[in-house]
Amino acid sequence: MTAQAFARVASERPLPVPDAATGPYWQAAREERLVIPRCDDCGHYHFYPRTLCPQCSSPALKWTQVSGHGAVYSFTVIYRAPSPAFSTAVPYVIAAVKLAEGPHLMTNIVGIAPDAVRIAMPVQVVFQKFSGEITLPMFEPVEKQ
Ligand SMILES: [Zn+2]
Repeated sequence: MTAQAFARVASERPLPVPDAATGPYWQAAREERLVIPRCDDCGHYHFYPRTLCPQCSSPALKWTQVSGHGAVYSFTVIYRAPSPAFSTAVPYVIAAVKLAEGPHLMTNIVGIAPDAVRIAMPVQVVFQKFSGEITLPMFEPVEKQ
């Protein structure tokens, strides 16, 4: 499905609620930047956000902009809408994307027919605005189909 098809259900779709732990992520997404935590002590990137570095337990973590490039690690195609809010979105792809910096990110793959998505396909981030507060990072193939 396309990012535009997701946008059509934006008014009904349940959206994330930013909090103290995730606020910087959503602020960056609104600015069409992808950021993930990086440890200032050992340089390790991780995602989801945590209070301590999972590599060295340092609390010196900093939201850091990443390249937005990665590859499809795994995916599934959703054919049955999990709620009426997604009824016009199906079929769509939920994927784990392995970022170039290492961590995995759960996301949607857009800009390609769901049955054309492949494991290890190079993808890049795109941003889909759903509300004044929430813009979701999604991924599309680097090579247009
Ligand atoms: Zn660390």
